[in-house]
Amino acid sequence: MSTTMISSVVETEEQRALRAAVAALGKRYGRDYFTGVVADGAHPDALWAEAAELGYLGVSIPEEYGGGGGGIAELSIVLEELGAAGSPLLMMVVSPAICATVIARFGTDAQRRQWLPGLADGSLTMAFGITEPDAGSNSHRITTTARRDGDHWVLTGRKVFVSGVDIADATLIVGRTEDARTGSLKPCLFIVPREAPGFGRSRIDMELQAPEKQFELVLDDVRLPADALVGDEDAGLLQLFAGLNPERIMTAAFAVGMARYALGRAVTYAKERTVWKTPIGAHQAVAHPLAQAHIEIELARLMMRKAAALYDAGDDMGAGEAANMAKYAAAEACVKTVDQAVHTLGGNGLTREYGLAQLIVASRVARIAPVSREMILNFVSHQSLGLPKSY
Ligand SMILES: Cc1cc2nc3c(=O)[nH]c(=O)nc-3n(C[C@H](O)[C@H](O)[C@H](O)COP(=O)(O)OP(=O)(O)OC[C@H]3O[C@@H](n4cnc5c(N)ncnc54)[C@H](O)[C@@H]3O)c2cc1C
Repeated sequence: MSTTMISSVVETEEQRALRAAVAALGKRYGRDYFTGVVADGAHPDALWAEAAELGYLGVSIPEEYGGGGGGIAELSIVLEELGAAGSPLLMMVVSPAICATVIARFGTDAQRRQWLPGLADGSLTMAFGITEPDAGSNSHRITTTARRDGDHWVLTGRKVFVSGVDIADATLIVGRTEDARTGSLKPCLFIVPREAPGFGRSRIDMELQAPEKQFELVLDDVRLPADALVGDEDAGLLQLFAGLNPERIMTAAFAVGMARYALGRAVTYAKERTVWKTPIGAHQAVAHPLAQAHIEIELARLMMRKAAALYDAGDDMGAGEAANMAKYAAAEACVKTVDQAVHTLGGNGLTREYGLAQLIVASRVARIAPVSREMILNFVSHQSLGLPKSY
């Protein structure tokens, strides 16, 4: 489809070559691989390993730590193309995009050497936990607390909906220090190894058909060495947003990829299925919503590219607004496209054989996570338009 034919005005030759190469890898795996992995209760280890080996997972990690030295622009191309092929890797949103970025920007040399080469070559994976049961969208209310005990940190708290904790070697946990326990969030970030004593997890039974599972976490006096803290305990929101803007851009890539996959399936079907004189795609009631979806995907994707370009150029503030807008636009395009794609297939849209109905649930993820549609509208109302706050 023409969505892969991005012009060199928008992307460099290298980026276009990366896009084509990842698309070829995605095609070799494709939707059958993804659904097979889910049916087996397994994980997409083979695709993860091959994408890592080809340098795609580590494309945004600095070269001196074994990465490709590119940016979030390149990383989002990788995730988008794998998603467009029907085989997205959700852990890319957290492991290389948030965790590796935060460690590369704010970690010590020792932390970088310990984690970045493994995150780049795919041998290590890191999850990311910020959401709490009693805080939800209001991150300022998180209560996971770190107290000092000699040379150690002791973490107490609860997290919810954290993806991939069972397969990740560690989870980057957002907490706050005892001194900054109340008031506006002054976050600090801790690397918590999967098997750390006191770090409990229980799987949440989700309706999603996906290899990555979500977990509720209990941190019951988890004792960590001093170097588990990434960055400065006083650096505040800046270092958190260094990770959250890439997360939003990558969620946009995830949603754009899924939308492109669904649109491709619907277009193929609409060209073939004939119940009157012409294929159903000749009826404008079928064609126009697909054309609209194509336009909305393309618009979201352009905003995603803008956000990635700003972020990679070091403009964290500018990237914040664009990353939120891109995530919003991509999620909305994804929900609408999937809805229309399922409808285009008529009864087949709801069969297991055609496999599109499961995307109805999957497409909702980007609307709620990592920040909901409403919280982005709040952000734009307050930050971009200067409107007053209701909360
Ligand atoms: C599949 C999946 C994977 C996830 N993975 C992770 C992960 O890896 N790590 C992690 O930390 N979290 C993860 N999350 C959690 C996700 O980020 C949260 O679900 C999300 O931030 C919303 O929080 P909440 O579920 O508590 O909803 P709530 O905050 O309870 O919101 C509920 C509803 O109220 C609306 N609302 C709340 N406040 C306002 C307001 N001020 N104005 C208007 N509307 C408002 C919201 O938009 C939403 O529609 C994941 C979630 C899902 C579904």
